Amino acid sequence: MRAALDRRSFLRVSAVTATAMAAGCAHTTASGPAWAGGASAAARTGARTAPSRSDWTALGKGLAGRLIRPGDASYDAARRLYSPSFDGIRPSGVAYCAGPSDVAECLAFAKKFGVPVTSRSGGHSYAGWSTGTGLVIDVSRMNTVSAASGRAVVGAGAQLIDVYDRLAAHGVSIPAGSCPTVGVAGLTLGGGIGVVARKYGLTCDVLESLQIVTADGRVLTCDADHNPDLYWASRGGGGGNFGVAVSFTFRTHPTRQVTVFFLHWPWSLARKAIAAWQAWAPYAPDAMWSNLHLNKDPGLDLQIGGLYLGSQADCERQLEPLISKIGSRPSSRYVSQASYSHAMMLMAGCSGRTVSQCHRPGDLPGQTADGRFPRDAFSAKSHMAYRPLSAAGINALVEQTALPGRHAVLLDALGGAVARLRPDATAFPHRAAIFSVQYYAHMAGAAAWLGRAHAAMSPHFGDHAYVNYIDPSLSGWRQAYYGANATRLAKVKAAYDPGRLFRFPQAV
Ligand SMILES: Cc1cc2nc3c(=O)[nH]c(=O)nc-3n(C[C@H](O)[C@H](O)[C@H](O)COP(=O)(O)OP(=O)(O)OC[C@H]3O[C@@H](n4cnc5c(N)ncnc54)[C@H](O)[C@@H]3O)c2cc1C
Repeated sequence: MRAALDRRSFLRVSAVTATAMAAGCAHTTASGPAWAGGASAAARTGARTAPSRSDWTALGKGLAGRLIRPGDASYDAARRLYSPSFDGIRPSGVAYCAGPSDVAECLAFAKKFGVPVTSRSGGHSYAGWSTGTGLVIDVSRMNTVSAASGRAVVGAGAQLIDVYDRLAAHGVSIPAGSCPTVGVAGLTLGGGIGVVARKYGLTCDVLESLQIVTADGRVLTCDADHNPDLYWASRGGGGGNFGVAVSFTFRTHPTRQVTVFFLHWPWSLARKAIAAWQAWAPYAPDAMWSNLHLNKDPGLDLQIGGLYLGSQADCERQLEPLISKIGSRPSSRYVSQASYSHAMMLMAGCSGRTVSQCHRPGDLPGQTADGRFPRDAFSAKSHMAYRPLSAAGINALVEQTALPGRHAVLLDALGGAVARLRPDATAFPHRAAIFSVQYYAHMAGAAAWLGRAHAAMSPHFGDHAYVNYIDPSLSGWRQAYYGANATRLAKVKAAYDPGRLFRFPQAV
């Protein structure tokens, strides 16, 4: 095992991986996505005229933050998301808002002129639904992180690596995802699965309150006592639906030494490994989190990796039942104790880099001058597994992975604290899921393999999906993402955004 992980290794070890609906994104055209048509937005809001150049100039002057328009030197950098797949989309403006009043200003402008509006934090939407042809409200400038008395207040534009890093100075953290540049807003609003989720829950499970600017320009505090329905919906109901979140208050947990591990077996043991892992990982002690990777990129490779909240010796002991169920010692193994911060850097694919280097390069908010974290384009689909695979299901998964192409399947363990909440306690419904499943692929043929693998596995996994792996080609997405919570979510949407200002193809 290398000390520093390259991008491909990152994809293999991280809890959840980067994906974008690249080649197969039917909604994206050279001129922009179909959902962001200005005419329908104008019709919806009753606006008669599109904003003139001087209207845009006035908006920019009225903001404490910065409005970037086509023609500005930073425009191309400002409009890009994490995935190059959406580089063809050209917003009319990208507003780097300095605070809630800038956001309210932008929303008023969008309504007045019927300009489609979308919110953006880390820009990792798999479907590219944090950009569009209208006004992008970017919250990256709102990225402060503070901690005191068991709580952290985190600006909605903070990226995960900065959240981990700044909280580490206080000896605390929050359960969150692996990718360093994912934004806390998109992650939290859709749930937030990470390497300590079995111990501490999803990111949304430790959310005590949030501040959000709603379509009418109000800045609302939402918690158990104030706007409790919006608070409920903001914990798993998905980003971009109810307003523009500007700040989150989380419960923190103290950090400690942890152990990270990566074990490999020959591909010939894939069936045994899947059977053993699915019977072990979701039911292991909460301190143990793991995932299973089936890789065909470029060759076949089988890895079980993870993080244990405890010593190396204890971790080794916990791994023994898994190894004995597989019936063979790993062909290669890396098990090592690390500080919590180092483990987060490792899981982020940032080992060997500084925190500053673990950003995208540039001088816009959220970027750093020495940033080295690359963008990536690949396609993905997913399932949430509510039951273990049968022998036939295991066979199908192994066969699909072994098909020609550059692709992989990742199974991330759930259970533990995630499973101890009721499915309706928050908007995230998948409390009974035992693991998540992601299929991802690069290069030509990606969409065909994804469609085929997903279809082949649906009879075995069922039709549940995670809204943070948003999938434009998923049929029955409402039920798949939200299950029985869909009805209540629709009521919250009607109450807080009756005019549907916040709109995209899979908006609640
Ligand atoms: C490389 C990579 C690694 C990932 N790792 C994990 C992981 O470990 N765990 C996990 O659970 N998920 C993971 N994901 C999925 C990730 O949680 C989602 O893609 C998430 O939506 C990204 O949030 P963002 O803020 O970066 O993206 P954005 O594209 O900025 O936003 C995503 C959605 O949220 C909306 N939104 C953004 N900001 C706001 C705001 N302030 N208020 C309201 N709505 C807003 C957007 O409009 C969009 O609809 C990963 C994704 C990638 C690409």
